[in-house]
Amino acid sequence: MMPPLPERPIYLDCQATTPVDPRVVEAMLPYFTDCPGNPSSSSHLYGWEAKAVVDLARETIAQAISADPQEIIFTSGATEANNLAIKGVAEAYLSKGRHLITMQTEHNAVLEPCKYLEKLGFEVTYLLPQPDGLLDVKVLEQAIRVDTILVSVMAANNEIGVLQPLSEIGQVCRQHNVLFHTDAAQAIGKIPLDVEAMQIDLLSMTGHKLYGPKGIGALYIRNRNPHVQVAAQLQGGGQERNVRSGTLPTPQIVGLGKAIELGLAEQTAEAERLTVLRNRLWQELQVLNGIHLNGHPQQRLPGCLSVSFEGIDGAALLLGLQPYVALSSGSACASSKPTPSHVLTALGRSAQLSKATLRFGLGRFTTQAEIEQAARHVIRTIQQGQSSQKLDDTAQPELVKPEIQP
Ligand SMILES: *Cc1c(COP(=O)(O)O)cnc(C)c1O
Repeated sequence: MMPPLPERPIYLDCQATTPVDPRVVEAMLPYFTDCPGNPSSSSHLYGWEAKAVVDLARETIAQAISADPQEIIFTSGATEANNLAIKGVAEAYLSKGRHLITMQTEHNAVLEPCKYLEKLGFEVTYLLPQPDGLLDVKVLEQAIRVDTILVSVMAANNEIGVLQPLSEIGQVCRQHNVLFHTDAAQAIGKIPLDVEAMQIDLLSMTGHKLYGPKGIGALYIRNRNPHVQVAAQLQGGGQERNVRSGTLPTPQIVGLGKAIELGLAEQTAEAERLTVLRNRLWQELQVLNGIHLNGHPQQRLPGCLSVSFEGIDGAALLLGLQPYVALSSGSACASSKPTPSHVLTALGRSAQLSKATLRFGLGRFTTQAEIEQAARHVIRTIQQGQSSQKLDDTAQPELVKPEIQP
C-alpha cells in the first residue's frame, strides 16, 4: 500500500544546498534597505557602515579557521574560490613549475580548472583514493615532483562525506615546499578547521552549504610563512587587494559571517545530534539485503550517508522516492548526466551500483521523525524494486520530472 502523498517531500539533500537559517536572513535584511552603501565608498556614512560590517564578517570568518582577516578574499562561492586558487597559483608560480596534484574524487569545481590548465600545458596528477575514499598520504608524497606547485585535496567529499586527513597532507606539502589548497565547501562550520595546525595555504568556502545565502563564498590565502601569490582572475575596480575585483555584496557577506558564526557556535552539539540521526538511519536500513556504505564508516561528515543498493534500478528508485523524500544519488551538478558518479567509480563501484545510490544529506532542520519516515519510504521503495526486478529484469522506468507549480 502506498502511503498518502505528503504536502512536500522530506528534504534530505543538504550536500546540494541548505536552507538559509532565519537568524542569517535577519542579520542580512538591513543591508538590503537601511544600509545600502558600497563598502568601497569612503566619502560618506553609508560606505563606512557597509565597510564596518564587511570587516566584522571578515574577522569572524578568519577567526573560524585561525587566519588573519586580511587573508580572506570574498568570492561568489566555492566554484570561484577554487578557480581563483588553482588558476591563480598556476599563473603566479609558472617559473617554479607546471605540475599540480589533486584527487579523482574532487568536486568538478576543482577538476575542471585542472583540466583547463592541462590544455594550457600544465601537467596534473589525479590520485586515486583508497577503497574507503581516503587519500593515502604516502601515495601523495610519491607523486610530488620538483616542479610540483600545488596540491588540491578537499576537506569533506560532497558525495560520500569522507573527511580527508588534512593535517597529514599539510605536513607532507610543507616538507616538500608545495602549496596546499583545500576545498572546504562541505566542511566549514561542520568540522574543526585550523589553517595553522593543518598547514593549509589556501582554503575555499561557500555560504549555501552551511545555512547561509547562495552566491557568496571566500578564499583564504596565506599571507605569511609562506606568503602565497595568487594571480587575479577578474580585473576591475581592484577590490579585495586587487585579487578579486567586483563590488562587495554587503548583505551576502553579512550572511556568510553570521552563518559561520552560528556553525561554529553550534558545531559540537550539532555534530553529535546529526551523528545519532545518521547512525539511526543506517541502522534502520539494515533490514534490507545487499546494502553498501560508501566511504569510511567513521571518518565522515556527521550529516552525510551514501548507500548503494544491489539489484535496484537507480532511476526507478529516485522516481519512486521523489514525492516523499528529496535526495539525490550524488552531486547535484551531475544528477542530470547519464554517466555514473566519478566519485563512486573511483571507489571501485560498478556503474550499476553507482546509479543505485542514495546520498542522505541531513542538516540543522532535520528531525528524528523525518529520518524515521524517510527510512520507511526508502525501505518500502527498495523492497518493491527488488521484487519487481526479480520478476522482470528488463523493466527500465524513466525518471520523469513532474511539472512544478510555482
Ligand atoms: C557545493 C560545492 C562546491 C561549489 O560551491 P558553489 O558555492 O556552489 O560554487 C564546490 N566544492 C564542493 C565540495 C561543494 O560541495
